[in-house]
Amino acid sequence: MKHVLIVGGGLGGLAAGIKLQANGYQVTIFEQNGHFGGKMMPVQLGDYSFDFGPNTITMPYVFQKVLKEAGENPDNHLEFVHIEKHTHNLFPDGTSFYMTTNRNEMVEQFEQLDPHAEISYYDYLEEVKLLYETAENHFFHRTFSSWTDYLDSKLFRALWSVRPFETIDHFHRQFFRNDYIRNAFNRYATYVGSSPFTSPAAFALIGHLEMGEGVYYVKGGNTKIVKAFEDTLRTLGASLHLKTKVNKIIVQEKQVRGVELENGEIITGDIVVVNGDLLTAYPELVEEAHRPHFKNKKAKSYEPSISAFVIMAGLKNRNPNLIHHQVYFAEDYQAEFHELLQEKRMPGDPTICVCNSSYIDQDAAPGDNLFILVHAPAVTDEDSYDKEEYKHLIYDKLKRYGLDIPSQLVVEKVVQPSDIASTFSGYKGTLYGISSNRKLDSFLRPSNVSKDVANLYFAGGTAHPRGGSPMVVISGMNVADKIIHHS
Ligand SMILES: Cc1cc2nc3c(=O)[nH]c(=O)nc-3n(C[C@H](O)[C@H](O)[C@H](O)COP(=O)(O)OP(=O)(O)OC[C@H]3O[C@@H](n4cnc5c(N)ncnc54)[C@H](O)[C@@H]3O)c2cc1C
Repeated sequence: MKHVLIVGGGLGGLAAGIKLQANGYQVTIFEQNGHFGGKMMPVQLGDYSFDFGPNTITMPYVFQKVLKEAGENPDNHLEFVHIEKHTHNLFPDGTSFYMTTNRNEMVEQFEQLDPHAEISYYDYLEEVKLLYETAENHFFHRTFSSWTDYLDSKLFRALWSVRPFETIDHFHRQFFRNDYIRNAFNRYATYVGSSPFTSPAAFALIGHLEMGEGVYYVKGGNTKIVKAFEDTLRTLGASLHLKTKVNKIIVQEKQVRGVELENGEIITGDIVVVNGDLLTAYPELVEEAHRPHFKNKKAKSYEPSISAFVIMAGLKNRNPNLIHHQVYFAEDYQAEFHELLQEKRMPGDPTICVCNSSYIDQDAAPGDNLFILVHAPAVTDEDSYDKEEYKHLIYDKLKRYGLDIPSQLVVEKVVQPSDIASTFSGYKGTLYGISSNRKLDSFLRPSNVSKDVANLYFAGGTAHPRGGSPMVVISGMNVADKIIHHS
């Protein structure tokens, strides 16, 4: 039986582990933290439970498939609750509208705001569905191991059809003439850690997931997904280790031989899957001499995706105006991206996303459990702002919108980009690894297979297909497939 060592117990590592263990491999997972799930992390502050990380879950069938293929009934583990009216968009002049999968309700809201969108919305849904189907058929389920993989003529045609040279903002201009409405859809670029004014139109496909298929919440918290994966791995007989950091991947004669743990112990294995962020883990764990195709200089050349400044705030009360998700937009959305990406500083007038999972799941907390996120630049040397001051800037803006947090606060925790970097060994504290601002980086993510070291694979947000909770699960499944069919 071949022994697979997985470095990191994030969603990508767990998904790969399940598939491999279910297919006759012996899997051992090493996770440096005290929890599995990586960035999908439960946080408990007194009586208030928070889902750190993914609070917008799409593509529930991706998570269900992992369990189903391992012989489990997903319904015994996970109850996905569909949220029809999922997001309330609010703008500084008092304009507001909801995002809902109910098409008629969407169109009714456009009547006053954007009569053009009233007609074009159905075309929009068709177009983003097509983009999604192209990506699903040609990109998501492949592992790209070399440039030649891109020379496949069908793939080339598919690449061409997903509008590689058009930006998301440009794509949306055909359908939405009102700036507010367009920016509400443009926000999908941030789901790949990028700007709608530079990243390619292909990512508008997220509109199909949110507005066509819908947004979900897992009853009991999204981290139940991690619990389901962990339970399945244990049932299958995988060996799971928390608080166990891998310090080195042992390479001999261009082949992996095992890993060395922080305590010096050597664990031998036939195959190593790195789930920890590729740009951090590969250079840290494999000596540079063993990876001529991925020198430190190359690792440093990638543009990081955006990061986040997060406040988890537990409130005394339930505010009747809050739904699952609300977005309080900046006055000038484009300027916010300029500050984030060009000036690399915290935005002066940030767009604030507030998720209140207790709206759906009252058992999560006695009052509102707000996960407040504003985008932040990836950790840079120039990183300089006052955490307390910035938190109050956010609270002051929310107060102007009628949400007074300090007066209702029971528990609170702030997480900054540097915390994300140190907790998860994430590349510069990013949410999604590499940005999609550069057209090439959008389509040519680092490969799932090492070019230099045999039996070394990468599954997770920085590798193909990309970050985001369903995508990293697909990444893990793809890598497992590759191993099963090629080793
Ligand atoms: C604040 C925030 C909000 C987000 N919101 C959403 C959202 O709404 N929707 C969505 O889909 N996605 C969201 N994401 C992104 C999503 O969480 C990630 O894309 C996904 O969870 C990444 O999974 P992963 O398996 O690639 O890596 P990770 O979750 O980073 O897991 C990798 C694991 O490897 C471990 N590790 C690294 N190096 C070592 C080592 N040497 N030894 C042992 N262990 C190691 C790390 O500790 C970590 O646990 C969000 C992320 C954040 C941080």
